[in-house]
Amino acid sequence: MEVVADRWRGSGGEVVAPRPATTEQLLRVHDLSHIRRIDETAGIATSLDPDTFTSPETVEAARLAAGAVVDAVERVWDGRHARAFALVRPPGHHAERDRAMGFCFFNNVAVGAAHARALGASRVAIVDYDVHHGNGTQHIFEDDPAVLYVSLHQSPFYPGTGDADEIGAGPGRGYTVNLPLAVGAVDEDYHLVFAEMVVPVLRRFAPDLLLVSAGFDAHERDPLGGMRLTTAAFGAMTAELRLVAEECCGGRLVAVTEGGYDLRALGESLESAMETLAGERAGSARWPSGSVAPSRGRASVTEARRALGSVWTV
Ligand SMILES: [Zn+2]
Repeated sequence: MEVVADRWRGSGGEVVAPRPATTEQLLRVHDLSHIRRIDETAGIATSLDPDTFTSPETVEAARLAAGAVVDAVERVWDGRHARAFALVRPPGHHAERDRAMGFCFFNNVAVGAAHARALGASRVAIVDYDVHHGNGTQHIFEDDPAVLYVSLHQSPFYPGTGDADEIGAGPGRGYTVNLPLAVGAVDEDYHLVFAEMVVPVLRRFAPDLLLVSAGFDAHERDPLGGMRLTTAAFGAMTAELRLVAEECCGGRLVAVTEGGYDLRALGESLESAMETLAGERAGSARWPSGSVAPSRGRASVTEARRALGSVWTV
């Protein structure tokens, strides 16, 4: 992480220590009883879920992680910075309004989206390319048309949510876009899904701010995920998102780390994504040129279009 931070500084970026999120900021997306339950783990090691354990310092790290996103959103929203990357642990997108889950305690990206709304953003988009579906983020905003949630994820897979048919509820119907991909998806599949769904939907939604749940566990070397993305694909996805943010919302983009469990793949992919955000100008998305037919990507796009009907007409 230090090396990445040094390169970021070298390209004109600033590195800022996070502040803890306040209870008021967390309460926008979490129940008070959940916040209290996490706070009560201070100083002890316990388990909250079959795979979500605390150490004595977890609550401190979790508050700092959510606070880092709040700070990043403020800096981008008030124009001090064009783009920001919150380098945080623990991740957040599985955390539900009322419970910790899947290594996640507070839903960092959701806290950031709610903070942006409180600052005056009318529409916030969240793109989540972590290999797992962000069940918590989806559920927190599923009835809210002001927050668009777009997820690309391996399916079927943990946590079991994220079918294309889950498109939001009530006034939020159509503002959840799930793009499930079969195990083994490659760069070409993600490229197709970005070109035919992610980018056109973002253009039509025209957010005031774009948030990215940047998980790196769809990398081919990741021990948990079953996808086959190369390191370069993470740079390409980031370039697509930077370009669409420049088109729609003055370039305002905040990325937040989620999963990624092969440390070398995580470091290299993170560097690829950060380099893409650091430059003065947005470069074009350089997808690795491959010759694999994107059959998984095609199936995902077809399924999402069927589920969404005429909502987005993309
Ligand atoms: Zn993940």
